[in-house]
Amino acid sequence: MTVDALIFGPHPDDIEILAGGLALVLGARGETVGGIDLSRGEAGTRGSAEQRADEARRGGEILGLAFRENLGLPDGGIRNDDASRDLVIDALRRHRPRLVVAPEPDGHHPDHLNAGHLIREARFLAGCSRIGPAGDPWRPGRVLYYPSRKPSMPTIIVDVTQHFDRKMEAIRAHESQLHSTSSTEQATTISSPDFLDIIEADARHFGAMIGARYGEAFSLDGPVAVDDPIAAVRDRGAAVFTPRRDTKR
Ligand SMILES: [Zn+2]
Repeated sequence: MTVDALIFGPHPDDIEILAGGLALVLGARGETVGGIDLSRGEAGTRGSAEQRADEARRGGEILGLAFRENLGLPDGGIRNDDASRDLVIDALRRHRPRLVVAPEPDGHHPDHLNAGHLIREARFLAGCSRIGPAGDPWRPGRVLYYPSRKPSMPTIIVDVTQHFDRKMEAIRAHESQLHSTSSTEQATTISSPDFLDIIEADARHFGAMIGARYGEAFSLDGPVAVDDPIAAVRDRGAAVFTPRRDTKR
């Protein structure tokens, strides 16, 4: 099926954690959003591939995704190679999104870094009729990247205030990854009792930059075209320094 936006995640919980608010914002605007997980998360420290597939299905429902696929690339071994590129090109040609969202091709996790390169290249090559698998060529707009865990200045922050609770609900669908007093599996960053607080702190931090309660950060590898320069530069950030009564959700 064709969609307005297609969000890629290297692992089954990345879409919720890093772009869940964006998915909900787009859905509320009437845009259709699909999700593609590149791997089943089978090499993750916690949870099994089967458990994680169920969690991703539930998380996708909460985000209102029109579909959620899994390309079955190896967890911990995502590479920007020809076979993987063909799978992504095929997905882009089948779903014909105008917007593609992916991890930035940087950061400490090799799967996120490689996925960023893989999707950036596939986005371009999907428009070349003689490259890749059969299917009508399709080239979406530039890739919108969500950040990795390293300090970087976003170029776009989406106000997700109205949808933040639902984003958190979608993250909580990934139960096997999160803190549980009954789990005997090895601890990870995500299973720390602080993890959901960190997600909220990030959202408050990025929200504060645009004068919103909660924001989700993205970047583009180039300038953004603007039709309304005055609207584009309006200083919503002033709200950070002049507390308003209406900043509550
Ligand atoms: Zn990940």
